[in-house]
Amino acid sequence: MKRDYYEILGVAKGASEEEIKKSYRKVAMQYHPDRNPGDKGAEEKFKEAAEAYEVLSDSEKRAQYDRFGHAGLNNRGFNGGTGMNMDDIFSQFGDIFGEDIFGSFFGGRRGGGSSRSRGVRGSNLRIKIKLNFEEIAKGVTKNIKVKKHIVCNTCSGSGAKDKGSIQTCNTCGGSGQVRRVSNTFLGQMQTVTTCPTCNGEGSIVTAKCTSCKGEGRVFGEETVTIEIPAGVQEGMQLSVSGRGNAGERGGSAGDLIILIEEEQHPELHRDGLSVAYELHISFSDAVFGTQVEVPTIDGKAKIKIPPGTQSGKIFRLKGKGFPSINSYEKGDQLIHVSVWTPQHLSTEEKAMVEKLSQSPNFQPKPDKNERSFFDKVKEMFS
Ligand SMILES: [Zn+2]
Ligand SMILES: [Zn+2]
Repeated sequence: MKRDYYEILGVAKGASEEEIKKSYRKVAMQYHPDRNPGDKGAEEKFKEAAEAYEVLSDSEKRAQYDRFGHAGLNNRGFNGGTGMNMDDIFSQFGDIFGEDIFGSFFGGRRGGGSSRSRGVRGSNLRIKIKLNFEEIAKGVTKNIKVKKHIVCNTCSGSGAKDKGSIQTCNTCGGSGQVRRVSNTFLGQMQTVTTCPTCNGEGSIVTAKCTSCKGEGRVFGEETVTIEIPAGVQEGMQLSVSGRGNAGERGGSAGDLIILIEEEQHPELHRDGLSVAYELHISFSDAVFGTQVEVPTIDGKAKIKIPPGTQSGKIFRLKGKGFPSINSYEKGDQLIHVSVWTPQHLSTEEKAMVEKLSQSPNFQPKPDKNERSFFDKVKEMFS
């Protein structure tokens, strides 16, 4: 069972960005591997905190988490904060701790080659996907052509003309970082900063690839397969990590953010997990009873209308509504009966109705067991 992200960082649900950052700093310091060498428990807590921070510091992911919990982030291949490795976590530290503090506190762990950042990260890309009720109810896999920056084929993203035109940076020797020793009131401190010559990339391109003009990416098209879980709703956002714009010179790609739109159904109406349908029946069918077919989000269903059915009666088809995205719960379909009152009558028909209206059986006599209109409305929205 995954722990609540707010609980992990020890902050309230409504905590501000600054509070979250502050708490994360505290927790990360406490469980940092350099301070707890060989302690597996501390390492787990450290990773857990990094994951929580990754989600809560991103307003989109946080909103998704607030609404749908862990399931909202990690549903069928959607990347939440999970699966971060140590390198990801340390690269996240730069913005939070400031490189100087980090370098001096932890002996410049970032100085290793593993933290060298290649290129520039690509931007996130947003697309809209319109889904019909059936697709929402069952979940769907969509193959979508996305126009975006893609990695240059000629240079495989390096931005260089050929292998020989990539040279190790002389300033930093390829590490992407330079160390400085400075004297402060606390004594001598070692600081690590990004190499100014290569911008932290560790290498320099001497001759540019002609296809992409050295950018390492070109504008193109990619077909992205997107698995949409069952039960999504209008306005929901899902993010597919690494499928946004390609980065410059081998930098990691941005995320693809998918905004869900619902296609209106010609006959059915959605209200949360419930589906509503208005069934019009004739006066004689209401009197004698009948069997009718009604549309559902999964084909047609037969329902029985008993004799003497009143207008306004609601029938419930259990489990014929939408599934919940983060539980096994399923909504119902509510069928609202509306008895059709004829609006145009011939002289002969008028005479017949007039004759019937004299009969005592045609006077309204509501049954005490019949629930009131107000109870039905309550039920409709429960
Ligand atoms: Zn350099
Ligand atoms: Zn190229």
